[in-house]
Amino acid sequence: MKVCVHDSHFGIQKFEVSLVEWIKLHFGVDGTNVYVFHARKQGWHGELSFYIVKCGEHGYFLDYLHGFPGYNEGFNCPFCLEETMERLINH
Ligand SMILES: [Zn+2]
Repeated sequence: MKVCVHDSHFGIQKFEVSLVEWIKLHFGVDGTNVYVFHARKQGWHGELSFYIVKCGEHGYFLDYLHGFPGYNEGFNCPFCLEETMERLINH
């Protein structure tokens, strides 16, 4: 199954996932995620796991876990992040 994803890290945009993962993403709540691969971005020392994550408002995006285990750990929808930044700047 193919999933269209907003990928601000590598620009891949389309990912092939299994049927089970596709169903999980489609029927999951916000923050539902499916592991896709390990990769290293430019300037990184090691590889991190990347996931397709569901945002109830903006659809699917590719991301890795930000923060530290047990502390601020989570995914950031780039569109939600942008909206939050705009709200902070305008107030
Ligand atoms: Zn969002």
